[in-house]
Amino acid sequence: MSVMVNGSPTKEFGVKKGLRQGNPLSPFLFVLVAEALARLVRKSSEIGEFENFEINRRCGVDILQFADDTLLVGKGSWKHVKALKIVLRSFELVSGLGINFHKSKLIGINVSPLFLDAAAYYLSCKIESSNFLFLGIPIGSNPRKEATWSPLMPTKVAKVVTTIQSNFLWGGEEEKKKIHWVGWKGVTRPQEKGGLGIKNIGDFNLALLNKWRWRIAQGNKSMWLEVSVAVMGGWLEGVWKWGDLGISVVGRDADFFFSFGVEGSFREFRRIPFGPPAKGDVAFNLIWKADIPFKIKAFGWRLFLNRLPTKDVLMYRGINLNHANSMCIFCNSHVEEADHLFSKCFVIKLVWKEIAMWVGFLGWSEEECIPFFLEWHSLSRVNKVKSGKLGVFWLATTWIIWLTRNAFCFRNEVWNINNMVWSIKFLAWRWSTFGNITYSNCSFYDFYKDPWSYLK
Ligand SMILES: [Zn+2]
Repeated sequence: MSVMVNGSPTKEFGVKKGLRQGNPLSPFLFVLVAEALARLVRKSSEIGEFENFEINRRCGVDILQFADDTLLVGKGSWKHVKALKIVLRSFELVSGLGINFHKSKLIGINVSPLFLDAAAYYLSCKIESSNFLFLGIPIGSNPRKEATWSPLMPTKVAKVVTTIQSNFLWGGEEEKKKIHWVGWKGVTRPQEKGGLGIKNIGDFNLALLNKWRWRIAQGNKSMWLEVSVAVMGGWLEGVWKWGDLGISVVGRDADFFFSFGVEGSFREFRRIPFGPPAKGDVAFNLIWKADIPFKIKAFGWRLFLNRLPTKDVLMYRGINLNHANSMCIFCNSHVEEADHLFSKCFVIKLVWKEIAMWVGFLGWSEEECIPFFLEWHSLSRVNKVKSGKLGVFWLATTWIIWLTRNAFCFRNEVWNINNMVWSIKFLAWRWSTFGNITYSNCSFYDFYKDPWSYLK
């Protein structure tokens, strides 16, 4: 077998043991070998050859490794340069791996250009300016400048990603204009606060950064912490001096950050701007808990926020509809608003009556969507129905009303109350039994006869 190195095949060799390319074990094999290089460097330091770089005489840095990217750090002395060469050559001999000196670079910080030239010649590598990238982060530039840290999560990138997310969310709608029906702030609110629970990636990035605080609090002994302590001076009366890094100051024994990881931290960020739960929040919670397809949950969410493209909303947004066109398609005597279309309309009330009779619900007093939904839900307490089950009837009804309305508006399809009631019952059966092992043998006929016995 022979391999290609920079375009030309090497000498042939016999294969004994090995891993195929793409084998998940191969990175570990590489890490094992790279560890040998770190050991060689440490040994050389121990015997006083390799002169590592000391930070405030508190800790020394000699080698930083990330996968195949290695950074060796030391004093600008001939003794150190020689030790470097010995370590690298030993590594080549021991491991059988060759070091690509064309890709290796020597960087001098506060050393004379003459020395740097000579050292680079001795090591047969190139010279690099003192501003370079390591793991995508500029090294040697001012750490107090925001621009230095911007590769970590530039605000611009966050904005672009958010735009992509937002267009994806609203792009697949039937409307010609891609209206973003709920502002991104609303979309990223937690579900129990009336949002869609999509992560605000800016906040999530902050939460990820917070993970570092958490690691400090855990008494981490890793090198990045030792270096930080050496540079920043460490703890000051339990307060970490992070101001220089742009991370806000935090008390070491503040209870909350001991207990969380990234997710908890993210929740913490989200918790602060939102007050105690309101009546609407209860309704949102019930929707998200209901055993129904996500599409229907999103429909209910938009309905409760009054963000469905009903005709009054379209007119409010400046989309032209003539007077005749703005009427409720069911009664033709009232402007189409969400509360009217889904509850107040006298035609729609006939649909609700049928469904209420079917489930044994004798009467209701609320007419606005959220209180109406909650009143309907209060039934479940009387009948000891599993929470999340009753929303099925209410949402199946509103969903069928919406589909019927759309079929009429966009495709001129005729409608009648009887068909709507049947569709609602059928849908409620599908949702109540679908994917549920206990009820999977429940036929539509059984469910139709007695829906309650399948909800307890
Ligand atoms: Zn009407």
